[in-house]
Amino acid sequence: MAMEPFGVLEHLKAISPNHVYFLAPKVIVMRGYEYYAQGRLEAYSWDRTRTVLSAVVRGSLRYTIRLTADDGTLAYTCNCPGWTQASQCKHVICVLLTSVNLLKPDTFRMPNARNTNRQDLLERQLLPGGKGTSAAMPPPRTPAQFEVTLGMREGRGEVMITNHGVMCQSVLGMPTELALLLRSIQDPAWSTQEGLQNFLNHHGHRHPLFVETAEERIPVEWTPSATYTTKTELNLVGKEVIIAARCVRYGEVLESVHTIMGFVVDMTTHRLSPLEYEGGWQVFDLLYEQSRRAGLIRPQDLLNRPLSVPTDPMAAGTPGGRAGRETP
Ligand SMILES: [Zn+2]
Repeated sequence: MAMEPFGVLEHLKAISPNHVYFLAPKVIVMRGYEYYAQGRLEAYSWDRTRTVLSAVVRGSLRYTIRLTADDGTLAYTCNCPGWTQASQCKHVICVLLTSVNLLKPDTFRMPNARNTNRQDLLERQLLPGGKGTSAAMPPPRTPAQFEVTLGMREGRGEVMITNHGVMCQSVLGMPTELALLLRSIQDPAWSTQEGLQNFLNHHGHRHPLFVETAEERIPVEWTPSATYTTKTELNLVGKEVIIAARCVRYGEVLESVHTIMGFVVDMTTHRLSPLEYEGGWQVFDLLYEQSRRAGLIRPQDLLNRPLSVPTDPMAAGTPGGRAGRETP
């Protein structure tokens, strides 16, 4: 039996999601993802022999990306000024994400489900014979149940993505916005905090969110409109100064809040919100660092209590830290 040539389509079907995310530096991948999510791939066209696939992506201008299967690998070119052989551009990332989504909807889940007409049109341009993939696709497996958990373990913030309660290690089957979040967690070159910010700002309502402390795991609602700021509180109590890092909302100090990676979790209202201003903790951070150097607190002490420093520097200090704030 003659082997079908391994052409552009076969390469696209075989491409691993990780490959797309690791093809370019972070800023390029993010921009390419935005282009994909905005549906900026306008059309596909094949050459007469179906060996070169061209795609038009609308950026500041319209650019043409060409995909060929050269020497057993998929090769890309783009006619934008940013593209070089060595570093792919956002247009290439956009074409790959869009194509993988069209060819294998099981790989990622399309974030723009409302654009089904357009997907259909593109699918017909992409596939031979002009018929959709739907008939050839395997039936969908149990629907995924993704959840994002912000955890505080041993004073440190971490982000976990689970599917049916199982920790996700691979982006396979993940919607694209979660795949980007997972990369920001896994790749040391990416910042998890930045990844979390991007995810929450654009998709904060799309998946169930949880916060996990040592005591409990609670569902939280992304509430970007609630704004919190910070201040350092100093109180002279007997021979000690009690120094505390506080979260403030509308001038009111909040007791039952945690801060994780630049976000505030209100344990009373179950809301997750951005922390607007962290500058109020500068004094706390300075006093904490000085106390630690002076041996008044031990490095292993968790930063979960107000810091208590004797006014007499010769007296011993009480270990402590800041209210509900993670270790920097
Ligand atoms: Zn380009």
